[in-house]
Amino acid sequence: MINIVLFGPPGAGKGTQAVKLVEKYSLFHISTGDVFRYNMKNETELGMLAKSFISKGQLVPDEVTINMLVDTIEKNPAEGYIFDGFPRTVVQAEALDKILNEKGTSISMCLALDVEENELRERLKSRALLENRPDDADPAVIQNRINVYKNETLPVINFYKNQGKAAIIDGIGEISDVTERLFDSIDSILA
Ligand code: AMP
Repeated sequence: MINIVLFGPPGAGKGTQAVKLVEKYSLFHISTGDVFRYNMKNETELGMLAKSFISKGQLVPDEVTINMLVDTIEKNPAEGYIFDGFPRTVVQAEALDKILNEKGTSISMCLALDVEENELRERLKSRALLENRPDDADPAVIQNRINVYKNETLPVINFYKNQGKAAIIDGIGEISDVTERLFDSIDSILA
C-alpha cells in the first residue's frame, strides 16, 4: 500500500499530475480543493463556509478541513491514497499521520513540485479562463494564496524531510516530463 502526498504551490500542476499517478498506481485521489468546490457548487453548509475563505485566498480552517478529509477517507476505503492539496499546514500533516496510523498505514512519500513564482502567476492566469475559477482570476487573491503558501504551507516540507520522506521534483517543462520525474521518484521507493 502506498500513500502519496502531492505537494506544491497553487498552479504547480498537482491536479494534472495526480490524475497520471492515479492511473499508474491505482490510488484513490483526494483533492481537498475539489471537495470544497463540489460543496460550493451544491451550496452545502460546508461549501458556504469554505467559500468565505477560498474567495479571499485564505486557507479553510484546519478543523473543518481535517473533518472533511476524515469523512472522505471513511467513505472511500482504498488500497492507497494520493493526497492533493492536503496537508497545507503542519497541524494538518500531524493529523494525517494520526489518521493513517490508526488505519495501520502511513505516508510513503511527499512529492513536492517546485515551480518558480512568476511561472505560477502565468499558469494561474490561464487556468482562471480555462476552468472558470474566480480564485485564479484576481491578482490580489493569487498573491494572497502565494503568501499563505510560503508562510503556512511550506513548513510542511520540513515535516516530511524530518521523516526522510520528502522528494523535491522539478515542476517546470512538459507535463509528460514532470510525470516521468514523479514516476521515477515513486518507483525508487517501490524498488
Ligand atoms: P486548490 O484547488 O487545492 O488550489 O484549493 C483551492 C482552495 O481551497 C485553496 O486556496 C484553499 O482556500 C482551500 N483549500 C484546499 N485545500 C485546503 C487545505 N488542505 N487546507 C485549507 N484550505 C484548503
